[in-house]
Amino acid sequence: MDSISLILKALEFAAGRHLTQHRKGADRAPYINHPIQVASLLVNEAGEEDPVLIAAAILHDVIEDTVDSEEEKKELINRLREIFGEEVLSLTLEVTDDESLEKKERKRLQVVFAPSLSGRAQKLRIADKIMNLHDIYSNPPEDWPLQRIIEYYDWAENVVAGIRGVNTTLDEIFDETLKAGREKYHH
Ligand code: ZN
Repeated sequence: MDSISLILKALEFAAGRHLTQHRKGADRAPYINHPIQVASLLVNEAGEEDPVLIAAAILHDVIEDTVDSEEEKKELINRLREIFGEEVLSLTLEVTDDESLEKKERKRLQVVFAPSLSGRAQKLRIADKIMNLHDIYSNPPEDWPLQRIIEYYDWAENVVAGIRGVNTTLDEIFDETLKAGREKYHH
């Protein structure tokens, strides 16, 4: 499959999976905006051109956020393998949290395992965190108290601390985005 086909198939697939989902921000943007923004950041800001990375960026939340059971998860994994191949699948899996664990533990493990992710997964992880911080800055969830916002910023900083250096532009954008949020939220 050529690169453009791969990217368009990923967009079509992810749009279908996230069809009825919305972001947590007050404007309730369609969920698909987020993976598109992560992929666009990697290409248009950070200069990444690897089609496997871009396809996985578009697909990065489908396993974590669009299945309700282990059986559905297995089915989805098989479909991703069939359509997109092993490389895109394994990269997507690398950035998928284990939803059977408690949220606190999932967050702790992201910090612990960040340094052992593949280079591609590290780039994807940083881009995802940048866009999440950006969303919290420009359009915070209505039901998040200040404390939760601050904790999210601190956690994102800890995750990214273990994976710096894989793309220095991403590191810089992360630092700027973190700083802007900290200024806004006086933290
Ligand atoms: Zn994400």
